[in-house]
Amino acid sequence: MKKILVLEDEPNIRSFVVINLRRNGYEPIEAACGSEALNQLEKNPDICLALLDVMLPDIDGFEVCRRIRASGSKIGIIMLTARGQEIDKVTGLMTGADDYVTKPFSPAELTARVDALVRRIGGSDSPDKPSYEICSGPFLLNTRNRTLEKDCKRLKLTQIEYLLMKLFMENPGRAMSREDILKAVWGDDFKGELKTVDVNIRRLRIKIETDPTEPEFLTTVWGFGYKWGY
Ligand code: CA
Repeated sequence: MKKILVLEDEPNIRSFVVINLRRNGYEPIEAACGSEALNQLEKNPDICLALLDVMLPDIDGFEVCRRIRASGSKIGIIMLTARGQEIDKVTGLMTGADDYVTKPFSPAELTARVDALVRRIGGSDSPDKPSYEICSGPFLLNTRNRTLEKDCKRLKLTQIEYLLMKLFMENPGRAMSREDILKAVWGDDFKGELKTVDVNIRRLRIKIETDPTEPEFLTTVWGFGYKWGY
């Protein structure tokens, strides 16, 4: 999960931003003042992007931005400016920020800017990883030629097993009901029983798990369904 530094002294705005980032799959790291932000950056060298408020109780956001750049860091930086602070845009550009969001902003606006900048800077996903490959732990799924590798070794899957793997690997950590799995893999018109899901998962586990009786990747969510637990 990509770490994003959130520097904002107003608790309400900070938690609003934090909640929205989390909802969009990011891991927010909070800071309420400039010095705390610089400490967090030192402690978390894998932070890929920083949201910096301008008006802060200690050093201002521009100074934080300037110090980040002075340290040689290439992380993405988005300044959170107040409405009417047009002059800030110029100052921000000079201190090395990549983008601006003017308060008040909507969750959609913020995440669109964050997503765009994360894409631009490449983030922690290797930028040369093609979009038709899904990687999870030792597994590599190629959605173009519909193949699966584990530790660089090709596993032979049926088309149903391939579709199951695709569904799980596209939804890591999400508990999926057997009904949802049935619908996603077999389609709306399929009139078979839920047991079909269990039977195919059992077969798939034999191929992908080291010990199919103690599944490590495709885990059971008791009384509900299954989860890609890696
Ligand atoms: Ca502020």
